[in-house]
Amino acid sequence: MAARQDLATDPGLQEDLLQARRGTAFFARKLNELTDAELDGGTLLPDWTRRHVVAHVGYNARAIARLVEWAATGVETPMYPSPEARNHEINFGATLSPIALRNLFDHSAVCLSVEWRDLPDENWSHQVRTAQGRTVPASETVWMRTREVWVHAVDLDNGATFTGIPAPVLERLLKDITGAWKTRGTDTGLLIKVTNSAGNGTGLMFGDTTAADPTTITGPLPAIVEWATGRGSSIRATGPDTNGSAPAAPKWI
Ligand code: ZN
Repeated sequence: MAARQDLATDPGLQEDLLQARRGTAFFARKLNELTDAELDGGTLLPDWTRRHVVAHVGYNARAIARLVEWAATGVETPMYPSPEARNHEINFGATLSPIALRNLFDHSAVCLSVEWRDLPDENWSHQVRTAQGRTVPASETVWMRTREVWVHAVDLDNGATFTGIPAPVLERLLKDITGAWKTRGTDTGLLIKVTNSAGNGTGLMFGDTTAADPTTITGPLPAIVEWATGRGSSIRATGPDTNGSAPAAPKWI
């Protein structure tokens, strides 16, 4: 018989699962606030309507559930057959009727939650491979989903903002993004300083911390992450060639 509660007993993992499910509820709330007609509207992502975002978030849950199944059974099941198949699936999903689109989101989220719930402690360390080709423990699937649901809720562009995302999620996201920049060397001369609500430094710093005369991006965590994910810029910048406004953030994905 399937468990009614998560089999995972690690407190950190339980906390991460809670954050992923909260994010899913956050996305669901914003989706439910949209009328069927409003699903045709635009988003913060170029070329994507809300239909594309909802389809993507639904198919993303299914793809992540395949990784959890992989960890459970040992049978290799990739997220997507190919990048083309992933994109084709999203474009197809965007043409579904509003009710089918909403069902896709709801069902896929429940299925993923059940896959996580029923994964025994020892399987969470089993290695799986993401669509980007990274080999990660199954526990990483929780974070992969967490950042999708929180950020894409903002992308729906009907009222959710980065200030609605919990600080631990924002901080981890910023570490991911600036880590990717560092790996690619695209953060040269770019220093990111996080301030608190009073505008004072928090000691949180990312990017090129050794540059002599860096372009310094300063702002509260939600605004910094909004900028770093390429979703807008309500932050200040100082340094060479800035005139006070922040340059476009380096590409992240
Ligand atoms: Zn996504």
